[in-house]
Amino acid sequence: MNNQELADFLLPKIDKDLTYYETKYPKRPLPETAIVTRYAPSPTGHLHMGAIFACFIEQKMAHQTGGVFFLRIEDTDKKREVENGITNIIQDLNEFNLVIDEGVENETTEKGVYGPYVQSQRQEIYQTFAKYLVANDLAYPCFCSAEDLARDHEIQISSKERQGYYGKWARCRNIPIETAVQRIKNGEKFVLRLKSPGKYERKIRFKDLIKGEIEFPENDIDIVLIKSDGLPLYHLAHLVDDYLMRTTHVIRGEEWLSSVPLHLQLFQVFGFKPPKYAHIPGLSKEEDGNKRKLSKRRDPEAAISYYHQKGIPPEAVLLYLATIANSNFEDWYEKELKEKGCARLENFQLDFKKIGVSAVLFDLAKLTNIVKNYIGRLSAEEVYQKALTYAEKYNSAFAKLLSQDADYSLKVLGIERGGVKPRKDISCFSEVQASIWYMFDELFYAQPLDYQFQTIKEQEEINRLVNTYLEKYFNIDDDKNTWFEKIKQLAAEFGYAREVKEYKANPSNYKGHVGDVSMVLRVITTTQSTTPDLFELLKLLGKTKLQERFAWWQKKLSQHRVSQ
Ligand code: GLU
Repeated sequence: MNNQELADFLLPKIDKDLTYYETKYPKRPLPETAIVTRYAPSPTGHLHMGAIFACFIEQKMAHQTGGVFFLRIEDTDKKREVENGITNIIQDLNEFNLVIDEGVENETTEKGVYGPYVQSQRQEIYQTFAKYLVANDLAYPCFCSAEDLARDHEIQISSKERQGYYGKWARCRNIPIETAVQRIKNGEKFVLRLKSPGKYERKIRFKDLIKGEIEFPENDIDIVLIKSDGLPLYHLAHLVDDYLMRTTHVIRGEEWLSSVPLHLQLFQVFGFKPPKYAHIPGLSKEEDGNKRKLSKRRDPEAAISYYHQKGIPPEAVLLYLATIANSNFEDWYEKELKEKGCARLENFQLDFKKIGVSAVLFDLAKLTNIVKNYIGRLSAEEVYQKALTYAEKYNSAFAKLLSQDADYSLKVLGIERGGVKPRKDISCFSEVQASIWYMFDELFYAQPLDYQFQTIKEQEEINRLVNTYLEKYFNIDDDKNTWFEKIKQLAAEFGYAREVKEYKANPSNYKGHVGDVSMVLRVITTTQSTTPDLFELLKLLGKTKLQERFAWWQKKLSQHRVSQ
């Protein structure tokens, strides 16, 4: 029996050849420079930030070169699969606007002509490729049991030998064809292994687009291509899928870097041109001055749900990911904003060479800063819409308040927005309520008595100042300058300096300064000692509300005294 006959004996149902599939999945009609790449997860649960980082780079590279970004589901290891695994992945990707051009769309449908994009539906294709290798004496059946392999593994460890199925350990490599056939006929189970042409002593060099020139020993391990259940292992599936789906660039996590010698060897034994490889470093975190891996188990910010629950806008997270992917992004972004008034991530050219070679730092403080700036640049309408969408999901009482008088809510959110120095105090949509609650009577009057008065604390003085302000100075139509001039007059009337510097020059001449006076108005209307622009707040609330709030404070205070 020759190798072709052995191949027919092992895989009798396989009647197609490589040319059939090469014709079915032709070279893509794209320019030479277009990057075709994929995200290829196993459906084992929700994604984590490292995966989103990788997907962001993959999608960006494909789109900025006019290429294709597709999603392939690698589900050959059925034991690890979770229910709704595909749905979870798609949801997480959609959340970050990482929309695919091609591939798996949900549990049952896919788009594109290079599918199926779910590996468990490609068994016949993998077997065709494995059959080709057997026919060409590049693969063979192996009968070693799990116990045989475990025993060899232990011996290799105790004798400090390199681990794996190679050289003298590859016991089934030289079994004569007739013997193998007889054993199969006797009902023995087998897997198909690669007959690796590699030599460990020889070196292979390749250029990773991110890591640069790398040298590894050649692969000499006879890896399993097809398991006894007929499904492939990852390595063969990678070769077959990325070849037939016409992937030009394999962009993936750095944990796969050490597999490159094997993967290049697989392309070589088939005589195919290999794709380019780019291995993305993992995300790390700084803790007590040390760097460690960002961990799904230990770090809440590693999970996608964290962003959703806090209401951290995904668009801003993508800006952060671009910042840690290419250190020149931030400058580019600022420059675009300055010169064009708006900056679009799509217009930035991400560069493989500028991606860090080792672990990339994921810094929550820096991310928060980027989000604050991002939200600071949004219009009141955008903040309103996003805050409302968030509240509808997580805080229905606040959603009701926001929408009962949308016009008022828009004005509240519009305070200090849109100018050259917009407010930047909101870092996620779950914080919106905490930053504007006092503008809504329903929340204002439900608060505990927690007035943060500063320099001026005596009730009598506060009464005098606020009453005089309301009776003599308040006018809803005043512009900001007039308003401030009146506050200065109010201050002077009660013996406070009109200017802080006047007070500083002669503190003994005054009871305090204009800032102390406006602080009283601020605290009476909001209870807070820091707020956005007081002029805008007072104007929005209006005289009646101001009077009501003042009266309420006085009432509460007397009740408080009585109860003490
Ligand atoms: N299925 C592999 C994983 O889960 C994908 C590896 C690759 O992208 O080549 O990481």
